[in-house]
Amino acid sequence: MSDDPDEGERPSASESDAADSGATDGADASETYCEQCGDPIETNEWYPVTSDRDEDGSLQLYPFCTEDCQSTWLDERSG
Ligand SMILES: [Zn+2]
Repeated sequence: MSDDPDEGERPSASESDAADSGATDGADASETYCEQCGDPIETNEWYPVTSDRDEDGSLQLYPFCTEDCQSTWLDERSG
């Protein structure tokens, strides 16, 4: 019987304390989603992007939510 009252279960530090000083009016309709997992990307902050050429030679940009997604996507793409 191990009843441990001192488990120290604490919520992770809140990271949503950033100053939101940007104008929120006229929100941009064009949202960016991760090419790998489809999660919406916070474009206010840095995010990984891979550029590649289309079949017709036009440059395409592929955004990712994390570098993990980026490398997974690159892995799958290169076979
Ligand atoms: Zn992702």
